[in-house]
Amino acid sequence: MKEEILKAEKLNTLSELAASIAHEVRNPLTVVKGFLQLMQQDEKGKNYEYFGLVLSELGRAEAIISDYLNFAKPKFEKLEEFALKDILKEIVMLLEPYAVKQGVRLESELDTSDFCLYTDRNQLKQALVNLVKNAIEATSEEGVVTIHTKSDRTHGSVLITDNGKGMTPEQLSRIGTLFYTTKDKGTGLGTSVSLRIIETIKGRVFYQSETGLGTTVTIVLPGGKKEELVSSINNEEPTVVKI
Ligand code: ADP
Ligand code: MG
Repeated sequence: MKEEILKAEKLNTLSELAASIAHEVRNPLTVVKGFLQLMQQDEKGKNYEYFGLVLSELGRAEAIISDYLNFAKPKFEKLEEFALKDILKEIVMLLEPYAVKQGVRLESELDTSDFCLYTDRNQLKQALVNLVKNAIEATSEEGVVTIHTKSDRTHGSVLITDNGKGMTPEQLSRIGTLFYTTKDKGTGLGTSVSLRIIETIKGRVFYQSETGLGTTVTIVLPGGKKEELVSSINNEEPTVVKI
Protein backbone atom coordinates (compact mmCIF):
# COMPACT_ATOMS: atom_id res chain seq x y z
CA MET A 1 0.00 0.00 0.00
CA LYS A 2 1.64 3.17 -1.13
CA GLU A 3 0.23 6.61 -0.79
CA GLU A 4 1.48 10.06 -1.53
CA ILE A 5 0.52 12.69 0.97
CA LEU A 6 -0.12 15.77 -1.07
CA LYS A 7 -1.37 18.41 1.31
CA ALA A 8 -1.12 18.95 4.99
CA GLU A 9 -4.61 19.26 6.35
CA LYS A 10 -5.82 22.83 6.43
CA LEU A 11 -7.30 24.21 9.56
CA ASN A 12 -10.51 26.11 9.11
CA THR A 13 -10.95 28.13 12.24
CA LEU A 14 -8.77 29.78 14.79
CA SER A 15 -11.15 28.81 17.56
CA GLU A 16 -10.68 25.12 16.80
CA LEU A 17 -6.97 25.59 17.24
CA ALA A 18 -7.29 27.65 20.40
CA ALA A 19 -9.68 25.17 22.00
CA SER A 20 -7.29 22.33 21.34
CA ILE A 21 -4.35 24.18 22.80
CA ALA A 22 -6.32 24.85 25.95
CA HIS A 23 -7.37 21.23 26.20
CA GLU A 24 -3.95 19.68 25.66
CA VAL A 25 -2.10 22.12 27.86
CA ARG A 26 -4.48 21.93 30.77
CA ASN A 27 -3.69 18.32 31.73
CA PRO A 28 0.07 18.60 32.25
CA LEU A 29 -0.41 21.93 33.98
CA THR A 30 -2.87 20.41 36.42
CA VAL A 31 -0.31 17.77 37.35
CA VAL A 32 2.36 20.42 37.84
CA LYS A 33 0.11 22.48 40.03
CA GLY A 34 -0.79 19.51 42.21
CA PHE A 35 2.82 18.58 42.84
CA LEU A 36 3.83 22.15 43.50
CA GLN A 37 1.12 22.33 46.15
CA LEU A 38 2.50 19.20 47.76
CA MET A 39 6.01 20.63 47.74
CA GLN A 40 4.74 23.77 49.36
CA GLN A 41 3.38 21.78 52.27
CA ASP A 42 6.64 19.90 52.76
CA GLU A 43 8.79 22.17 54.84
CA LYS A 44 11.72 19.74 55.03
CA GLY A 45 11.97 19.58 51.25
CA LYS A 46 11.65 15.80 51.25
CA ASN A 47 9.72 15.86 48.01
CA TYR A 48 12.72 16.95 46.01
CA GLU A 49 12.24 14.09 43.53
CA TYR A 50 8.99 15.63 42.33
CA PHE A 51 11.03 18.29 40.59
CA GLY A 52 11.85 15.79 37.85
CA LEU A 53 8.19 15.15 37.17
CA VAL A 54 7.32 18.83 37.36
CA LEU A 55 9.98 19.71 34.83
CA SER A 56 9.05 16.91 32.47
CA GLU A 57 5.37 17.90 32.50
CA LEU A 58 6.29 21.50 31.89
CA GLY A 59 8.51 20.40 29.02
CA ARG A 60 5.64 18.44 27.54
CA ALA A 61 3.34 21.44 27.73
CA GLU A 62 5.95 23.58 26.09
CA ALA A 63 6.48 21.05 23.27
CA ILE A 64 2.74 20.83 22.61
CA ILE A 65 2.35 24.59 22.46
CA SER A 66 5.27 25.03 20.11
CA ASP A 67 3.99 22.22 17.86
CA TYR A 68 0.59 23.92 17.60
CA LEU A 69 2.08 27.28 16.91
CA ASN A 70 4.52 25.89 14.39
CA PHE A 71 1.70 24.15 12.61
CA ALA A 72 -0.38 27.30 12.47
CA LYS A 73 2.43 29.36 11.06
CA PRO A 74 5.84 27.82 10.43
CA LYS A 75 8.49 30.51 10.66
CA PHE A 76 11.25 30.34 8.11
CA GLU A 77 13.43 32.92 9.77
CA LYS A 78 16.99 32.07 9.01
CA LEU A 79 17.59 30.69 5.53
CA GLU A 80 20.95 29.06 4.98
CA GLU A 81 22.70 26.52 2.85
CA PHE A 82 23.58 23.21 4.46
CA ALA A 83 24.31 19.62 3.49
CA LEU A 84 21.48 17.13 3.88
CA LYS A 85 23.81 14.56 5.40
CA ASP A 86 24.94 16.99 8.12
CA ILE A 87 21.45 17.62 9.36
CA LEU A 88 20.75 13.89 9.42
CA LYS A 89 23.88 13.24 11.45
CA GLU A 90 22.61 15.75 14.00
CA ILE A 91 19.19 14.10 14.08
CA VAL A 92 20.71 10.66 14.68
CA MET A 93 22.78 12.05 17.56
CA LEU A 94 19.77 13.82 19.00
CA LEU A 95 17.47 10.79 18.87
CA GLU A 96 19.98 8.08 19.73
CA PRO A 97 19.24 8.25 23.50
CA TYR A 98 15.50 8.12 22.78
CA ALA A 99 15.94 5.00 20.62
CA VAL A 100 18.11 3.36 23.28
CA LYS A 101 15.44 4.04 25.87
CA GLN A 102 12.86 2.26 23.70
CA GLY A 103 15.26 -0.63 23.00
CA VAL A 104 15.34 0.26 19.30
CA ARG A 105 18.47 0.35 17.14
CA LEU A 106 18.83 3.56 15.15
CA GLU A 107 21.00 3.16 12.08
CA SER A 108 21.95 5.49 9.29
CA GLU A 109 23.35 4.97 5.80
CA LEU A 110 23.99 8.43 4.48
CA ASP A 111 25.20 8.83 0.93
CA THR A 112 28.46 10.66 0.62
CA SER A 113 27.25 13.39 -1.72
CA ASP A 114 27.28 16.97 -0.59
CA PHE A 115 23.70 17.53 -1.67
CA CYS A 116 22.70 20.90 -0.26
CA LEU A 117 19.46 22.56 0.66
CA TYR A 118 18.74 26.18 1.20
CA THR A 119 16.09 26.72 3.83
CA ASP A 120 15.55 27.16 7.57
CA ARG A 121 17.66 24.39 9.02
CA ASN A 122 15.76 24.18 12.29
CA GLN A 123 12.42 23.80 10.56
CA LEU A 124 13.63 20.94 8.40
CA LYS A 125 15.24 19.35 11.45
CA GLN A 126 11.95 19.55 13.33
CA ALA A 127 10.09 17.98 10.39
CA LEU A 128 12.49 15.05 10.19
CA VAL A 129 12.77 14.57 13.97
CA ASN A 130 8.98 14.15 14.21
CA LEU A 131 8.99 11.45 11.52
CA VAL A 132 11.97 9.56 12.96
CA LYS A 133 10.39 9.71 16.43
CA ASN A 134 7.22 8.15 15.04
CA ALA A 135 9.29 5.36 13.48
CA ILE A 136 10.98 4.68 16.83
CA GLU A 137 7.66 4.77 18.69
CA ALA A 138 6.08 2.29 16.24
CA THR A 139 8.91 -0.19 16.71
CA SER A 140 9.05 -2.71 19.50
CA GLU A 141 12.17 -3.64 21.45
CA GLU A 142 14.98 -5.13 19.38
CA GLY A 143 13.54 -3.47 16.28
CA VAL A 144 15.51 -1.30 13.90
CA VAL A 145 14.94 2.14 12.42
CA THR A 146 17.15 3.01 9.47
CA ILE A 147 17.64 6.42 7.93
CA HIS A 148 19.17 6.53 4.53
CA THR A 149 19.63 9.12 1.85
CA LYS A 150 19.82 9.23 -1.92
CA SER A 151 20.43 12.19 -4.11
CA ASP A 152 20.84 13.30 -7.68
CA ARG A 153 21.57 16.72 -9.09
CA THR A 154 18.18 18.24 -8.28
CA HIS A 155 16.65 16.25 -5.42
CA GLY A 156 17.67 14.64 -2.17
CA SER A 157 15.61 11.85 -0.61
CA VAL A 158 15.49 10.75 2.99
CA LEU A 159 14.08 7.28 3.66
CA ILE A 160 13.05 6.42 7.21
CA THR A 161 12.37 2.71 7.49
CA ASP A 162 11.15 0.87 10.56
CA ASN A 163 10.27 -2.75 11.12
CA GLY A 164 7.55 -1.81 13.59
CA LYS A 165 3.85 -2.41 13.69
CA GLY A 166 2.97 -0.76 10.39
CA MET A 167 -0.40 0.71 9.43
CA THR A 168 -3.60 -0.60 7.90
CA PRO A 169 -4.81 1.13 4.71
CA GLU A 170 -7.42 2.90 6.88
CA GLN A 171 -4.75 4.19 9.29
CA LEU A 172 -2.57 5.18 6.38
CA SER A 173 -5.36 7.22 4.88
CA ARG A 174 -5.65 9.21 8.11
CA ILE A 175 -2.01 10.01 8.60
CA GLY A 176 -1.30 13.72 8.44
CA THR A 177 -4.82 14.54 9.58
CA LEU A 178 -4.55 17.00 12.39
CA PHE A 179 -5.08 15.42 15.85
CA TYR A 180 -5.10 11.87 14.50
CA THR A 181 -3.25 9.69 17.00
CA THR A 182 -3.32 6.07 18.14
CA LYS A 183 -1.09 6.72 21.16
CA ASP A 184 -2.12 7.20 24.78
CA LYS A 185 -0.05 10.32 25.18
CA GLY A 186 -0.03 11.31 21.53
CA THR A 187 -1.17 14.69 20.26
CA GLY A 188 -1.60 13.82 16.60
CA LEU A 189 0.40 16.90 15.70
CA GLY A 190 3.83 15.62 14.73
CA THR A 191 3.03 14.42 11.24
CA SER A 192 0.90 17.47 10.43
CA VAL A 193 3.72 19.78 11.50
CA SER A 194 6.21 17.81 9.41
CA LEU A 195 4.01 17.79 6.33
CA ARG A 196 3.37 21.50 6.63
CA ILE A 197 7.10 22.26 6.81
CA ILE A 198 7.99 19.92 3.96
CA GLU A 199 5.19 21.34 1.85
CA THR A 200 6.52 24.86 2.46
CA ILE A 201 9.93 23.87 1.12
CA LYS A 202 8.28 22.20 -1.87
CA GLY A 203 9.17 18.71 -0.80
CA ARG A 204 7.00 15.61 -1.11
CA VAL A 205 6.23 12.82 1.34
CA PHE A 206 5.35 9.21 0.57
CA TYR A 207 4.31 6.51 3.04
CA GLN A 208 4.60 2.83 2.37
CA SER A 209 3.34 0.57 5.12
CA GLU A 210 2.31 -3.02 5.86
CA THR A 211 0.82 -4.07 9.16
CA GLY A 212 3.19 -6.26 11.11
CA LEU A 213 6.08 -5.51 8.77
CA GLY A 214 6.79 -1.82 9.16
CA THR A 215 6.76 1.50 7.42
CA THR A 216 8.96 3.50 5.10
CA VAL A 217 8.54 7.25 4.88
CA THR A 218 10.24 8.84 1.89
CA ILE A 219 10.83 12.56 1.91
CA VAL A 220 11.93 14.07 -1.40
CA LEU A 221 13.48 17.51 -1.09
CA PRO A 222 14.42 19.92 -3.84
CA GLY A 223 17.95 21.32 -3.95
CA GLY A 224 19.06 23.52 -6.77
CA LYS A 225 20.12 27.10 -7.10
CA LYS A 226 20.08 29.20 -3.98
CA GLU A 227 18.42 32.18 -5.70
CA GLU A 228 15.52 30.14 -7.09
CA LEU A 229 14.81 28.58 -3.72
CA VAL A 230 14.89 31.90 -1.89
CA SER A 231 12.37 33.45 -4.24
CA SER A 232 10.08 30.43 -4.09
CA ILE A 233 10.04 30.52 -0.29
CA ASN A 234 9.44 34.27 -0.14
CA ASN A 235 6.61 34.09 -2.64
CA GLU A 236 4.88 31.46 -0.59
CA GLU A 237 1.92 32.99 1.20
CA PRO A 238 1.65 31.39 4.62
CA THR A 239 -1.19 28.95 4.31
CA VAL A 240 -4.06 28.90 6.78
CA VAL A 241 -4.38 30.34 10.21
CA LYS A 242 -2.53 33.40 11.37
CA ILE A 243 -2.11 34.12 15.05
P1 ADP B 1 1.45 11.22 17.56
O1 ADP B 1 2.87 10.74 17.37
O2 ADP B 1 1.33 12.24 18.64
O3 ADP B 1 0.47 10.09 17.69
P2 ADP B 1 1.67 11.96 14.78
O4 ADP B 1 0.96 12.95 13.94
O5 ADP B 1 3.15 12.08 14.85
O6 ADP B 1 1.02 12.01 16.22
O7 ADP B 1 1.30 10.51 14.25
C1 ADP B 1 -0.04 10.15 14.07
C2 ADP B 1 -0.25 8.64 14.07
O8 ADP B 1 0.27 8.08 12.88
C3 ADP B 1 0.44 7.89 15.18
O9 ADP B 1 -0.32 7.92 16.38
C4 ADP B 1 0.57 6.49 14.60
O10 ADP B 1 -0.64 5.77 14.76
C5 ADP B 1 0.70 6.75 13.10
N1 ADP B 1 2.12 6.62 12.64
C6 ADP B 1 2.95 7.60 12.30
N2 ADP B 1 4.15 7.12 11.90
C7 ADP B 1 4.07 5.78 12.00
C8 ADP B 1 4.97 4.68 11.75
N3 ADP B 1 6.23 4.89 11.31
N4 ADP B 1 4.51 3.42 11.95
C9 ADP B 1 3.25 3.19 12.37
N5 ADP B 1 2.36 4.17 12.65
C10 ADP B 1 2.75 5.44 12.46
MG1 MG C 1 4.47 11.75 16.56
